[in-house]
Amino acid sequence: MNGGAGADGGPVSDAALRARVAASLAAVRGRIEAACARAGRDPASVTLVGVTKTVAVPAIRAALDAGLSVLGENRVQEALPKLDALPGARWHFIGELQRNKARRVAERFELIHSVDSLRLGETLARIGEELGRPVAALVEVNLGGEATKAGIEPEELEPLLRALAGRPGLALRGLMAVPPPVDDPEQARPYFRRLAELARAAAALGLPGIAMDQLSMGMTHDFEVAIEEGATFIRVGTGLFGNRGQLP
Ligand SMILES: *Cc1c(COP(=O)(O)O)cnc(C)c1O
Repeated sequence: MNGGAGADGGPVSDAALRARVAASLAAVRGRIEAACARAGRDPASVTLVGVTKTVAVPAIRAALDAGLSVLGENRVQEALPKLDALPGARWHFIGELQRNKARRVAERFELIHSVDSLRLGETLARIGEELGRPVAALVEVNLGGEATKAGIEPEELEPLLRALAGRPGLALRGLMAVPPPVDDPEQARPYFRRLAELARAAAALGLPGIAMDQLSMGMTHDFEVAIEEGATFIRVGTGLFGNRGQLP
């Protein structure tokens, strides 16, 4: 776990940790505002999801105290103790979700960004029916055709949405993608644009219970480009908490 070590490896005082996290958050907010200004968008239309994988509770608490409101985790085992330690925080699940962990995640996370199969969607719909409230989720799309990447192929999106439409236990709100890594953020733009086009086409199907107005795309390296292409959730880890917990 990181987020509590100084550059020399020694402990960071709580005040120093808090100051560094607050400064990182302010810098990210500045970048969000600048991107929104370029794109003619209201910064309130972009939700910053602070990705806390490998980050220890004191740094996460510092970010919450500095005004961060939504947190993202991608591993259930790592996340649950943090959820217990930080009651009242809002959590999004952004990683690969195994169906045997779906119930715990559906119960405790307000949005699941990473529905990557019809089977997982059906499992979540059944859990939502049992809970008596819809589970909110996004469908993850594999835009780069990378065999190792999570997400459904773009061609699979329409059949998946048709199969999951009208299920009272599932509220599909939009799409998520992690494009292939690129050196220049501009190279990610075609992927972000493609995800926005897929969401528009999916919305035009008019399927019951399926809204496609949320786009989860963009990370530390490329979120400005994602905002220009319509991101409503950006998922930022290192920009807030440093590289694997070494605060920037
Ligand atoms: C780790 C992670 C992020 C954050 O990446 P950074 O480059 O650290 O901002 C975003 N999305 C997912 C799915 C992740 O696993």
